[in-house]
Amino acid sequence: MASFIYLDNSATTKVRDEVCEAMRPYLCDKWGNPSSLHRLGYQARTAMSKAREQAAQLIGATPDEVYFTPCGTFSNNMALLGRAQFVEANGMGRHLITTCIEHTSSLGPAKHLMSRGWKVSHLHVSDEGVVDLEELKSIISGETSIISLMWANNEVGTVQPVEEIAKIAAERNIYFHSDAIQVPGKLKIDMARTPVSSLSLSGHKFYAPKGIGLLYVRKGMDIAPILFGGGQEHGISPGTESLSNIVAIGAAAELAHNELQHNTAHLRAIQKLLIEKLTASPAVKLSGTCMESRLPGHVSLIVEGTVGEQLVVEADLKGVCISSVSACKQVGKDPSHVLACMGLKHEQVIGSARITAGRFNTLEECDKAAEILLEIFTKRAGAGNPAPAPANV
Ligand code: PLP
Repeated sequence: MASFIYLDNSATTKVRDEVCEAMRPYLCDKWGNPSSLHRLGYQARTAMSKAREQAAQLIGATPDEVYFTPCGTFSNNMALLGRAQFVEANGMGRHLITTCIEHTSSLGPAKHLMSRGWKVSHLHVSDEGVVDLEELKSIISGETSIISLMWANNEVGTVQPVEEIAKIAAERNIYFHSDAIQVPGKLKIDMARTPVSSLSLSGHKFYAPKGIGLLYVRKGMDIAPILFGGGQEHGISPGTESLSNIVAIGAAAELAHNELQHNTAHLRAIQKLLIEKLTASPAVKLSGTCMESRLPGHVSLIVEGTVGEQLVVEADLKGVCISSVSACKQVGKDPSHVLACMGLKHEQVIGSARITAGRFNTLEECDKAAEILLEIFTKRAGAGNPAPAPANV
């Protein structure tokens, strides 16, 4: 039994025992290079094919539309910069539409494209973090060649109307990339139903190890290589494949697919309990959207008058692991571009807490965690020492 309660599953998840077991032989015995012609190479290629099928099944794709990558950040960069490369080479319009609440691994390539002369439009989001489809339609022009919108936000858990966005893009023949990194095992992803052009996933968000990601690219959608090497993964992710990690993400994908219903119900029950208990205090407000359009298991809160990082440290001292904003950012740098884009005031942005449940959490431990957190939040509210707003906010 762990001596702490881990409620930071949007940052990363524990590798499942079944996943460890599946990958172990590919570290110890079957460690061949998939490019080798001999038996070890054949063994490795066979294992990769199985993993590709498992991953494809998770998202309703065909195996030849799935590419293994080193991480989600790589997948987002590859999709956006690779498509941009194709657009430029074919003399198409250089207009990218995105939002200001994307993960930095999508915002970064968009910013880079601006330096290459692209026009980048950032859609507004509502105070719940949802894009406005009418604004999207009105911004699209004859020059628009890429739309990049995340499926669900990592900081506030808001789920976007991806199906509608995909249809808007498909009707206008515009490439649509979606970062779905927070979604597997929580909501259904079905590429047969949702006409997304490309999609990013990351293994460590659904119980595979860190250092393995996926990029789905729909058949017929071209992206040009941005890295050059041995041509592995059709040049999308060149370099000798991380065989054991690939086997791991395949196993994790199969489990996520088979257990989706059960997992979602479990996470919804925990989410309901956490939201009810924690928002019982007038000092605590739910940020983002209501439960129905929020990722299962995701709770994001504003505890006014507090500093999120203090809440995290205090919770840790009491044995509960949560986060303030995104774990992918340097502490103290930019509290949350997401909450700021949603129109929250600086004092609210810095008092944010994110509590994200996973499959290993029990209702009982979450009940206990909620009591501990509520006590900390209530004590800290009004007694915190929020930092002054930086000059550029
Ligand atoms: N996109 C989202 C929504 C994320 O939550 C993360 C990680 O936190 C990433 C992208 C980056 O994924 P990775 O850590 O695999 O590079």
